[in-house]
Amino acid sequence: MPVLRFKNNDLMPALGLGTWKSEPGAVYTAVKDALKAGYRHIDCAPIYGNEAEIGKALHESFQSKVISRSKLWITSKLWNNAHAPEDVQPALERTLADLQLEYLDLFLIHWPVHIIKDQLYPSKPEHYIAFDQLPITETWKAMEALVDKGLCRHIGVSNFSVTKLAMLMENSRLKPAMNQIELHPYLQQHAMLEYCQANDIHLTAYAPLGSADRPAALKATDEPVLLEDPIIAQIAKNHGVTSAQVLISWAINRGTAVIPKSVKISRIIQNLEARNLTLTLTDMNMINELDRNRRYVSGDFWAPAGSPYTLANLWDE
Ligand code: NAP
Repeated sequence: MPVLRFKNNDLMPALGLGTWKSEPGAVYTAVKDALKAGYRHIDCAPIYGNEAEIGKALHESFQSKVISRSKLWITSKLWNNAHAPEDVQPALERTLADLQLEYLDLFLIHWPVHIIKDQLYPSKPEHYIAFDQLPITETWKAMEALVDKGLCRHIGVSNFSVTKLAMLMENSRLKPAMNQIELHPYLQQHAMLEYCQANDIHLTAYAPLGSADRPAALKATDEPVLLEDPIIAQIAKNHGVTSAQVLISWAINRGTAVIPKSVKISRIIQNLEARNLTLTLTDMNMINELDRNRRYVSGDFWAPAGSPYTLANLWDE
């Protein structure tokens, strides 16, 4: 399995299992199947509403000796309503209790968006706290304390722009080790990749297959279907593999981690097998041409009328 090396020499398996939209019953089986198949990295978040079921699957897999904790990489995330410094550790402790773990390998600030504590999802402008009203550096200090206490081994962010990453780099004792962002051939984010390579920040590619099972409210009518892209399909045909495997291999080839989600055993195995696929320079160059700055997870759900967040200040574009 290709790996990403962290500064303390910890190794993160480059290919992990995504769990957003994986229903509680289905995610339990998916995680158990994935661990049996050879996955060693699971991507979680409390907002996915399924960490307790993942915890049950992990616990049973440890008990039956399918895998030991130390061989596994578990990522989870801090939800937007727990950014006040005093709320950070309790949020991680809830996640640890649900996952039945003593520590996480990686804990990420899920979005650079603050929501008031009592609200999971904002439904009115007053449910938001503007980004500059609660300095993310204060949230970050509370994240750093979690590493000091041994509750997580690494900390990072998700959905951060280069501008926000650079601000955090300048104002932190422990530097963000990861930015988990949407990355696939239609959204290649070359400037982000270069910035992170130059600053020792790893990237994890989310929505690597185009996130087709997103709720309808998060979809646009004119969406291109990444898994049906003819160039990707042609490359897949040349190698005798599937389009999904080409997309996963492309992400690994760029030196990023990648976390395709599936709850179907055949796809879970198929996606893992992508680690054995080597794309040629010609393949990579052909895929390079597909970039069109197309976000599937646009972030517009944080930017309704009256919200202090806009697409411009969210992505700093
Ligand atoms: P994705 O992995 O791009 O796509 C998932 C969809 O692809 C599901 O409909 C899945 O269906 C299908 N699929 C999986 N393997 C397939 C294959 N081999 N052939 C055809 N279809 C296949 O989308 P995602 O779930 O949005 O992103 C992946 C993970 O990234 C998430 O689960 C989550 O862990 C993380 N994520 C993080 C953020 C963030 O803000 N940090 C945002 C989005 C996602 P089946 O399950 O039915 O197989």
